[in-house]
Amino acid sequence: MSPFPRSTVLGYPRIGPRRELKRALESYWDGRSSRAELDRVGAELRAATWDRLAGLGLEGLPSNTFSLYDHVLDTAVMLGAVPKRYRAAEDPYFAMARGTDGLTPLRMTKWFDTNYHYIVPEIGPETVFELDATKPLGEVREARALGHETRPVVVGPVTFLLLGSALDRLEEVLGCYEELLSALAAEGVSWVQLDEPALVADRTPSELAAVRAAYERLGALAERPGLFVASSFGDLGESLPVLAATPVEAIGIDLVRGGVPEIDLGDKTVVAGVVSGRDVWRTPPERALAALGAVRAARVTVSTSCSLLHVPYDLEAEPDLDAALKERLAFAEQKVAEVVALSRAERHALPAPRPAAVPPALTSLEGGDPYPTRAEERGPYAVRAAAQAARLRLPLLPITTIGSFPQTGELRAARAAVAAGTLAQDEYERRIEAEIERAVRTQERLGLDVLVHGEPERNDMVQYFAEHLDGFAVTANGWVQSYGSRCVRPPVLHGDVTRPAPMTVRWATYAQSLTDRPVKGMLTGPVTIVAWSFVRDDLPLRDVVFQVADAIREEVRDLEAAGVPIVQVDEPALRELLPLRQAAWDDYLEWAVRAYRRATSGAGDHTQIHTHLCYSDAGEILAAIDALDADVTTIESARSGARVLGAVETFGRGLGPGVYDIHSPRVPSAAEVEDLLRRTLRALPAERVWVNPDCGLKTRTYEQVEASLRHVVEATRRLRAEL
Ligand code: GLN
Ligand code: ZN
Repeated sequence: MSPFPRSTVLGYPRIGPRRELKRALESYWDGRSSRAELDRVGAELRAATWDRLAGLGLEGLPSNTFSLYDHVLDTAVMLGAVPKRYRAAEDPYFAMARGTDGLTPLRMTKWFDTNYHYIVPEIGPETVFELDATKPLGEVREARALGHETRPVVVGPVTFLLLGSALDRLEEVLGCYEELLSALAAEGVSWVQLDEPALVADRTPSELAAVRAAYERLGALAERPGLFVASSFGDLGESLPVLAATPVEAIGIDLVRGGVPEIDLGDKTVVAGVVSGRDVWRTPPERALAALGAVRAARVTVSTSCSLLHVPYDLEAEPDLDAALKERLAFAEQKVAEVVALSRAERHALPAPRPAAVPPALTSLEGGDPYPTRAEERGPYAVRAAAQAARLRLPLLPITTIGSFPQTGELRAARAAVAAGTLAQDEYERRIEAEIERAVRTQERLGLDVLVHGEPERNDMVQYFAEHLDGFAVTANGWVQSYGSRCVRPPVLHGDVTRPAPMTVRWATYAQSLTDRPVKGMLTGPVTIVAWSFVRDDLPLRDVVFQVADAIREEVRDLEAAGVPIVQVDEPALRELLPLRQAAWDDYLEWAVRAYRRATSGAGDHTQIHTHLCYSDAGEILAAIDALDADVTTIESARSGARVLGAVETFGRGLGPGVYDIHSPRVPSAAEVEDLLRRTLRALPAERVWVNPDCGLKTRTYEQVEASLRHVVEATRRLRAEL
């Protein structure tokens, strides 16, 4: 077995530096290009990545990190876990990923604590595991033809089965992995990477036994490549000694989030993740070299803490970023260069590479507790409810929406034109006002009770605020894959956050000036703004979130002062930041709730605070959602009603379980909405029930929205008549 290369990365972005894959996918899905054209773009992107990594001096090149949609789905396909109903589809892979006319797609959820979404494997009694190694073998051969020897990367058996809630199928699945290892050995592959990020979360004794059994068995195989089991996103904890006692030759350890292992790893190779794959900061070389030096093992390889999938491609594609900020940043290419430089420095005892630029002294806090507890309390709910009822005079079952109205192509084009300097700012603002008027008139005509301005000025619910707050920078090309062809451009929170001027007041008050009905101001909450940004790491996350909370607090107060009677502060990412290990949950939830309350408690009793969450599995954080103390909570529920209702029944305040699933173009009938509402009314007293869609309407068309909301109003009126 040849020794493990001295420098590597666990994975690389695949959407393309200019989102080439996104375009190719969308064109293929729309029937504008052939599968062969899509495959050609994929091959070009893979070739460019291998050439670039080798060109930067990286020794260990990964393969099979490319995916047309998702690497977990690729693993399911590799193992034969394709549910029967998709097999007859024209393209079963994309049918599972995206659905077809007759088939709903497989479920999608977040990959550990990242903002990447994977397709959840569906494994049932009828699943027959059967290896199809076409993709990993194909990529090895493809790279070889270009002159590169690679290390194929696949999701490991334990993580795969845990994601599919089917760990009891380990024996069968291991048969496939054995076959895969034999096939790779026959192909002359010297190392394989098995990703096991699930091992950094809490694992039961029987799960740890499964880890042991899996890697004992794979290790015992006679003809196989070297086994490299990679972890990411935290400390391996009790999984590390278990892995260390198996025959695997190399173990990947996240040394950014986790500590240097206390145990001596003997004859293993440690693939030391000292360069963070989760942020965009340069790596302090002294810290990395100290960690590398402290690891006790036969060999140490320099690597990233996780796949670089979670960071943008290249800082050089950002000519407009402030030069001093750029000095502190590293995107994927720069991180590869850091890995290479650290590996050389470590090997030849060279002086440390150029130190990362030190951030300017940032926190403008003088002594003592930088965040004294502000009033995080509002008046008692009964007092608030009475003041708000007197002011708003809403009917029973008030109808509202979650904030955004359809975003038209013209609006996006207008935004691009302003950026390009071809559209004057005041002309742009006039168009925004016209769009607000259209949304308001539509809501009045349909008969909604609490109106929104429709968010036409926002490209994105986080980026918009990042553009208006000091302490943030936004990128031009810093795209990161969120799922499939969808990418986001997370802003970079690099300094103290302050709000130089009101951000939303003018749009909310403009909307209110058009109508007698109450208008709801719309803000993104501090946890969500931070969760969907790259944030500074020189302050505890809590303090960063508190700074954002204080900026939002000022905005809430300005909205109130301007006469906006209702303010919604969305926290769809509250659950996403939940730590992977339960021991850390309480601490996180305590400060996350405090942050939300800091943001909202500046509002007087007569101002109604709404919050919105977009997931139906609120179970784990129910108490925290309740502790947000919002007057009204709207929550996704149209597809999973009973479960949500069972969970939120105990809430003592206003509640709007969604009655319209906005994720699909389908228009629900009035009867369907009525049925959902009846179910809600069986679980909750009518005085507390709100009627609303599951989430914002920005991805729908006006036609779909109008038809759907008409049915929502119709159903609500029928029920009101009975109450
Ligand atoms: N107010 C936002 C909207 O309606 C909420 C989006 C979200 O919850 N993800 O678009
Ligand atoms: Zn939502």
